[in-house]
Amino acid sequence: MKQIALDGPAGAGKSTIARRLAQELQFVYIDTGAMYRTLALACIRKGISSDEEEKVCEAARKARIDIRYLDGMQHMFLDEEDVSAQIRTEEVSKAASDTSKYPEVRERLVALQQELAQRYNVVMDGRDIGTVVLPDADLKIFLTASVEVRATRRYKEYLEKGMEADYEAIKKEIAERDYNDSHRAHSPLRKAEDAVELDTSDLGIDEVTEKILQLYRDRTEGNGQEA
Ligand code: C5P
Repeated sequence: MKQIALDGPAGAGKSTIARRLAQELQFVYIDTGAMYRTLALACIRKGISSDEEEKVCEAARKARIDIRYLDGMQHMFLDEEDVSAQIRTEEVSKAASDTSKYPEVRERLVALQQELAQRYNVVMDGRDIGTVVLPDADLKIFLTASVEVRATRRYKEYLEKGMEADYEAIKKEIAERDYNDSHRAHSPLRKAEDAVELDTSDLGIDEVTEKILQLYRDRTEGNGQEA
């Protein structure tokens, strides 16, 4: 199976780019952040605080988290309910970052991610895809952008969805999440040694997509494999 791993901090453009790449290559796009978010939502609904490790891990064992594809879009289901919209709030973002540090949570979700990568050609995005989930991916990309650019993107995204947004609060939340995600003991956010780093601050979606497609073709064709 073919694999493209896309890692980077919040708002670097991972999901937009990953979706485009998957479309171009006819691969399945797997948004791993959505899985951590779904578990975080399960905890919030059960009144479990992120620092209660034992209870969070129990929720991870019990919650039925499923990924389904409707019209080519990934939807997340929690106990049979489509929660794809409910997981996109600031509260869930923070809880996802706080609960994803537990090794048992990661073990469970990583297993699910690896299982999907055995069944489909995938473009997978997250924080530890190139380093832990798909260490042998055909291509690893590490996307970055300044915190201001990333906060502006999130801000616009919320407004487009008709949600309320406060730029300064988003910027603060993103900076905190960056810190949290890069400093945790297990699978911290970091660039894999063999990943190509791309700063998307001044690049458009088309440009980034094209660059990555070119890299992928060079890699796979250069190896004598078909793209
Ligand atoms: O990518 P997204 O912002 O939706 O991810 C939400 C949170 O889930 C991240 O801040 C991070 O803490 C966690 N996450 C992770 N590993 C991944 C994907 C997401 O720890 N592969």
